[in-house]
Amino acid sequence: MDESDVIDRVLQEAADLTPTPGFVNGDTYSQWYVETSVGLLKALAGLAAARGQLALTERLERFAGPMCFEVTGDKVCVAMVRAEGMPCSKHAPENGPTLGFCAYVAPHDEQPRMCKGAPKEGTDRCAEHEAHCRIVKKNGKVCGNWNCPSPAHRKARQAAARH
Ligand SMILES: [Zn+2]
Ligand SMILES: [Zn+2]
Ligand SMILES: [Zn+2]
Repeated sequence: MDESDVIDRVLQEAADLTPTPGFVNGDTYSQWYVETSVGLLKALAGLAAARGQLALTERLERFAGPMCFEVTGDKVCVAMVRAEGMPCSKHAPENGPTLGFCAYVAPHDEQPRMCKGAPKEGTDRCAEHEAHCRIVKKNGKVCGNWNCPSPAHRKARQAAARH
């Protein structure tokens, strides 16, 4: 593409911008803004690339997503991820404990996200996830039942707690 094509593409994408009601736009004027689109971000990245601005290209491409979007404190993670809804490697659920959060990892979750509950005293999980049974069954799967009623699992949990 030559540069005038790249510019045309930016303008064409910009022509589709419009204010849209949604959860980002609130009740008062000052809360309103026009959201950008993935198409415009990509077109701008293309323009930046055509102008040899590599850092800006990388930034705009990253903002076109998909991004991690894990919120910790007042920060949002903008790391690139493999697919929409996925966390970055730093914010994978198994890293919860290193960040001071719950260690629970949902089994077989297509979009695994960290539980940001605070660990209950004496455990590495939040109160809600601590109630999910951790016993690994004969088929190799974690039981996962909430307040598990299985007497065998209760026994195994008590035995594990003693060790
Ligand atoms: Zn992240
Ligand atoms: Zn939890
Ligand atoms: Zn169980």
